[in-house]
Amino acid sequence: MRAKTKMIHGGITGDEQTGAVSVPIYQVSTYKQDHVGEHRGYEYSRTGNPTRHALEQVIADLENGASGFAFGSGMAAITSVMMLLDADDHVVMTDDVYGGTYRLMTSVLNRFNLDHTYVDTSYPEKVEAAITERTKALYIETPTNPLLKITDIKKMTEIAKKHDLLLIVDNTFATPYWQQPLDLGADIVLHSATKYIGGHSDVVAGLVVVNATDLAKQIHFIQNSVGGVLGPQDSWLLMRGIKTLALRMEAIEKNAHNIVEFLQAHDKVSTIYYPGMENHHGHDIAKQQATGFGGMISFDVGSGERADEVLDRVRYFTLAESLGAVESLISVPAKMTHASIPPERRAELGITDGLIRVSVGIEDSADLIEDLAEALK
Ligand SMILES: *Cc1c(COP(=O)(O)O)cnc(C)c1O
Repeated sequence: MRAKTKMIHGGITGDEQTGAVSVPIYQVSTYKQDHVGEHRGYEYSRTGNPTRHALEQVIADLENGASGFAFGSGMAAITSVMMLLDADDHVVMTDDVYGGTYRLMTSVLNRFNLDHTYVDTSYPEKVEAAITERTKALYIETPTNPLLKITDIKKMTEIAKKHDLLLIVDNTFATPYWQQPLDLGADIVLHSATKYIGGHSDVVAGLVVVNATDLAKQIHFIQNSVGGVLGPQDSWLLMRGIKTLALRMEAIEKNAHNIVEFLQAHDKVSTIYYPGMENHHGHDIAKQQATGFGGMISFDVGSGERADEVLDRVRYFTLAESLGAVESLISVPAKMTHASIPPERRAELGITDGLIRVSVGIEDSADLIEDLAEALK
């Protein structure tokens, strides 16, 4: 089955009993047992719920993995994956990881002596250099937020194999439609499904897919023990989102391409970050390991004041955090998504005050371009 067909026919489709074409929402916590200890596959909805299970099957199919798991948020998914590790273990991570992941590592998991080192994973030699005897996992995001840095997943696989590390990939920005890290050798792929997978700014959720049954057993044990599961309504919403993921990503990609062309020709825009541009650092790798470049674009307008002005003046771009929805969103990372990162560190990473990030939606790109042109005047 090809990707577009999988989004409609992958996983569990419909309901055997009634012929319903959409998986029912099993709004239930517990299940009648036929005899003591004899159930029909479900006992209690933290352990397993049929609607959540259908979602977990389809995401496993889309990522070509062994098993999928759904959580109450991307952060719950990431935390559960980190629970695979022990105190005194060490993780090498992409330096501009999602702000919430940064906070989790530096302000929560550090208290349990789970150590980490941030490196620019777009340089494999820096990754090698950061590995110690205690390193157990390599955690990457590609493309990253908001500078769209690209990490070579195959290279990371080689390093992970050599040092016996778990390779974990946050695939939120690329989506399983454009990029399948497990096929490139990763052990675990995860998503904030709040973004492109849900796609409609109406659900907060996280997904994890693993490449092997022993990892699946461990993640299921953690999911059931820690309990950050996704509810049946939200599971259903994600399945609904997945049905149009391919169409949305194609439309978003076209719009992004048009907007980048407009920005490149604009004299008030200095640096543009978009993996689809030939001069973008990592463009060749992005082209090799993904079939699309995605809908996130960042660009610099020179100062925080100018960025504020632009954001005040846009009409179709909604000023909001988050990304990956049908509606175009716009933000200033330094004051919004990345405000919790200390200014010195932001400067190190290249997240300037004048940097604007857009998440391109599926509106008519001519309107989006007119909107930006007016706001940039
Ligand atoms: C949003 C996001 C997360 C966190 O997901 P939530 O659903 O908000 O908990 C993790 N990684 C990336 C890349 C994200 O964009």
